[in-house]
Amino acid sequence: MKKDDKLTEQLKLYFGFDSFKGNQEAIIRSVLAGKDTFVLMPTGSGKSLCFQLPSLMMEGTAIVISPLIALMKNQVDAMRNYSEENGVAHFINSSLNKAAIEMVKSDVLSRKTKLLYVAPESLNKEENVEFLRQVKISFYAVDEAQCISEWGHDFRPEYRQIRPTINHIGQKAAVVALTASATPKVQQDIQKNLEMTDAAYFRSSFDRPNLYYEVRPKTENVDKEIVKYIKAEEGKSGIIYCLSRKKVEELAEMLNVNGIKALPYHAGMESSARSENQDAFLMEKVQVIVATIAFGMGIDKPDVRFVIHYDIPKSLEGYYQETGRVGRDGGEGQCIAFYSNSDLQKLEKFMQGKPVAEQEIGRLLLQDIASYAESSVCRRRVLLHYFGEEYKKDNCGNCDNCLNPKKQ
Ligand code: ADP
Ligand code: MG
Repeated sequence: MKKDDKLTEQLKLYFGFDSFKGNQEAIIRSVLAGKDTFVLMPTGSGKSLCFQLPSLMMEGTAIVISPLIALMKNQVDAMRNYSEENGVAHFINSSLNKAAIEMVKSDVLSRKTKLLYVAPESLNKEENVEFLRQVKISFYAVDEAQCISEWGHDFRPEYRQIRPTINHIGQKAAVVALTASATPKVQQDIQKNLEMTDAAYFRSSFDRPNLYYEVRPKTENVDKEIVKYIKAEEGKSGIIYCLSRKKVEELAEMLNVNGIKALPYHAGMESSARSENQDAFLMEKVQVIVATIAFGMGIDKPDVRFVIHYDIPKSLEGYYQETGRVGRDGGEGQCIAFYSNSDLQKLEKFMQGKPVAEQEIGRLLLQDIASYAESSVCRRRVLLHYFGEEYKKDNCGNCDNCLNPKKQ
């Protein structure tokens, strides 16, 4: 196919990039053509541009549904950097006062605004629906669409109301769904819920060739093993994930006692203490952050070199996301998970108070984790298979099972 010079020109003009990454160009064409478009691409691969660029080129305002105020702020700031017009991007959420909301609405109605970010909770509000009825909408983008699915690890029930609300607004506009975390189950769930089974579909590989995967048996020596491992990785930043807040505190303490600078991070801490510890990690005042899964979304430290799972996570999906935070610069990234069957049983026990349907899902997710951990075939192959992808090489050369094949 002939290269679309005009599109590349626009890319350069608005964003200063010389070329598209991966499927970006084809995705953008699909959006520009007004098609429903489904995008599966790993974190960091440039999904935002797939709706940002078309929004600038199309008539009207794109409505971007985004799960976190911090993410919206980030993107709005970035868009303002690229544009001379501050009104080019706005968000509407609970952090804005009345005057600020009026200002946003007036920018949108005067057609300055090409991107309007909202959380699903705000989209649902009747006053916002009324407002959007008066707006020329270029398309809807649903970012972090895995939030729609109860099979996804960050399920948000409000996300399931997006399609009814769009219908309620009543304008014919394409929907673009974007996610970095889609097992076939999550993906089908999203497509069904957003009623976009006929959508143009784009996915890129989820393989991260620079990441090394290893599973170690969790014994009573696990602490010692971790200390030894980290000491051998002197000067390299790492994250340790634990399931409980208590364990996070204990482990951080244990590391410090053993001469490794480490800080805890979990949702039970004051938010000021949390951001202090996060900053200390980002600025490399400490080598290690010990955290629950509360740590990570939106963290951009490109040179994290190892991630250790002290406890096995609740799903492979979660495991992929958490290990995805190492080696983002393309350099080395080691992913070590400690696994014991008794941990698995503990996780099953935790679920007992929950609704039956949730327990059932939880159990199935745990089964997948167990078969990953207990497998003697290539970890990469198992992981990618979980995401519906076939890994073709016999030996990935970068996981414990490929480097030290067990004798059958
Ligand atoms: P994702 O949402 O897929 O995790 P982002 O949209 O946040 O990824 O993009 C990740 C980074 O890639 C951003 O810093 C963005 O500016 C950069 N990026 C996106 N597209 C391109 C491109 N075509 N050329 C160079 N950098 C790009
Ligand atoms: Mg993104």
